[in-house]
Formats: sequence, structure tokens, C-alpha cells
Amino acid sequence: MLRRKRIVYLGLIALLAVLVSALPPVSAASQTKRQRSIVIDPGHGGLDVGAKGKFGSLEKDITLAISFKLKSLIEQNMAFRVILTRDKDIDLSNENRAALANNNDAVLFISIHTNGSFRKNAQGAETYFMSLTATDEESRKLAYFENNSSELETRIAGEAKDDVQIILWDMAQAAYIKQSSRLAELIQEELSSNPLIGTENRGVKQARFKVLTGVACPAVLVEAAFISNPREEQKLISNEFQTHVAQAVYSGLAKYIKLTFQR
Ligand SMILES: [Zn+2]
Repeated sequence: MLRRKRIVYLGLIALLAVLVSALPPVSAASQTKRQRSIVIDPGHGGLDVGAKGKFGSLEKDITLAISFKLKSLIEQNMAFRVILTRDKDIDLSNENRAALANNNDAVLFISIHTNGSFRKNAQGAETYFMSLTATDEESRKLAYFENNSSELETRIAGEAKDDVQIILWDMAQAAYIKQSSRLAELIQEELSSNPLIGTENRGVKQARFKVLTGVACPAVLVEAAFISNPREEQKLISNEFQTHVAQAVYSGLAKYIKLTFQR
């Protein structure tokens, strides 16, 4: 009786071993790649339309269109999972955008925007990384606008976070300033050197953008061109220009990934 039981046990163990060996091997590397993500953040959305153009274009629509193109480029060429903070016209707080990156093991966070200025002739592309103090008065004003462009945004932020949490979130991005500045440089370089984009190079700047402060990975905010400048607004709404911007941002982030992850 005992011997028969033992044979059954041994048989079960052997069957289990066969089943396990038949499973496809999962390497640690491929597991890591699957989990890692790049988060693209189309600026504004819903009631928060962002900056408006003379011809009626809204920043929130252009940022979404460019973000979709950037997502496709990354998915076609890289093994990272790409997450959009929004894929439709909805309201989303800055804190939720950052949380999405932090909850999805993001290696990069790219926020896409179009610029606005009271000066109608203001033009060009600029890329920001987070700082508690702004590069200049214009950068400070821009960050103020981006941070408060919707009353709803302010209301959500006010309800959701207390002072202690905001300080902790500020610290999250503070640990990545050096990497974020490198990422900003590489993206800005591509935006300004691409003749198909052909906008003024306004350089890499720093300001306190709420959407970047809480992100726990290298994070930048791209101001592709000025929607407030009628000439640049016309470019921004064109499919070609949006594609060129997406390609430039992609090339910059691809260079950063190559430098950082593939040494
Ligand atoms: Zn914006």
C-alpha cells in the first residue's frame, strides 16, 4: 500500500517537472523591458484648453495630436511600453499625470505643450526641466500660466494635496535634475537643428512646472512652437509639422535612452 502511494507521488512529481520544462523561458531582461514605460503627457485637456491661437486652434488639441504621433514612433522602434496620460479630451490634474508615470515604472516623462505669449511675434521651440527658480521672468510667467490655465486644475490640486505631500513630490523630481537637463538638451538640439521644423532655437530653460515636480524619473516639458503667433499657429495645426515635432522629440529621447541604458 505504502509503495503504491510512493509511486503515485513520484509520478506526480515527474509530471510536474515535464509541465514546468515545457513552459517558455522568461528572461529577467525581457521582463524588465515589458514593465518599463515611457509616459507622454499631452498638455491640458477638457475644460483646460491651454493657450489659444488667433485662428481658433486650441493647445489641448495640438498637444494630443503630437503625442499620438510620438507614441507611434516609440512603439515602432523601441521595446518600451508607451503610456499617454490622456488619449482623449478630458480634464486631468498635474498630480494625476505625475502619478501615472510613477505608478507605471516610467523611465522618461515627456510633457508636450505649445507656447503662448502676449507678444504676437514671439516664436520658436524651447524645452524645460524642473527648477524651483525660473531661468528668467518670461519662463516664470509661462510656468504660472501652464500651472494655472484652468480653474478646475487649481481646484483639483487644492483638494487633493496637502503641504507635506507637495514637498515630498517636489523632492521626487529633484533627484533627477541632472538627467532631466541632459534629456532636455538632447530634445532641444533635435528641435532646433531640424530644417523641416525651422523655428527659432529658444534653448533649454528651467521653471517650476507643477506637472514635472512630482515625477520620479527624468522629465521634461516641450514647448513646440507659439500658438499665439499666427504664423506658428498655422504650422502647428498642420499634420506635417506635428510629425516633424514628434520625430525631433523622438530622436532626442532615443539618443538619451542610448546613452543611458545601452552602455
Ligand atoms: Zn501648455
